[in-house]
Amino acid sequence: MTYASYLDFDRETLLDKLCQKLSAKRFQHVLGVEETAKALARHYDYDEDKAGLAALLHDYAKEESDQVFLEAIDRYQLDSDLKNWNNNVWHGLVGRYIISEELGLTDEEILRAIEVHTVGAKDMSCLDKIVYMADYIEPNRNFPCVERARELVYQSLDMAVAYATARTVAHLVDQGFAIYPQTLETYNSFVPYLLKDEIK
Ligand code: GDP
Ligand code: FE
Ligand code: FE
Repeated sequence: MTYASYLDFDRETLLDKLCQKLSAKRFQHVLGVEETAKALARHYDYDEDKAGLAALLHDYAKEESDQVFLEAIDRYQLDSDLKNWNNNVWHGLVGRYIISEELGLTDEEILRAIEVHTVGAKDMSCLDKIVYMADYIEPNRNFPCVERARELVYQSLDMAVAYATARTVAHLVDQGFAIYPQTLETYNSFVPYLLKDEIK
């Protein structure tokens, strides 16, 4: 299987499109997420091409304007509460529709992994977890806790998702940002996997 089994074009053509769509820094980030997602897929015996493609596409819509997202929320008749949020939650939850429309991608599992890559979900598939964690730990990431997440992710995807979500929620609280309800659902669902001495 290659990326061309999900799209009408090959990886090189997709890289050209991503390069035009994204800043140089974000382009490097998505390549890092692709590499990391493939490594995780190998480790957890998941389809490497599927994980790599979902990873390569996960931030495709990140640099769209607010106007584009607001129009898409109407056009796809998505929950109108989304309009109260911002690019951070839109680029995945709404981005999946833009990706499907612009690239002709129809694979529901890949679109779902892109949809939940920022906020997670109560129930996450293996692919959802791989993309969520690869986004958090790819080699260009450099923040406190990333090293711990890189260790945990090869022990247990559930423990790693619990850890990353707990850190993200704590970070949002520290910064005084609103937390999207689905992020809290993810936290509540995965918190049983959190090691007791992990968060101090
Ligand atoms: P990126 O797109 O590669 O930068 O990473 P993500 O898609 O994981 O996250 C994008 C941004 O959204 C980050 O700054 C996160 O801290 C932030 N974020 C994650 N969850 C939430 C949430 O529930 N609410 C808000 N306001 N921001 C969030
Ligand atoms: Fe993102
Ligand atoms: Fe990302």
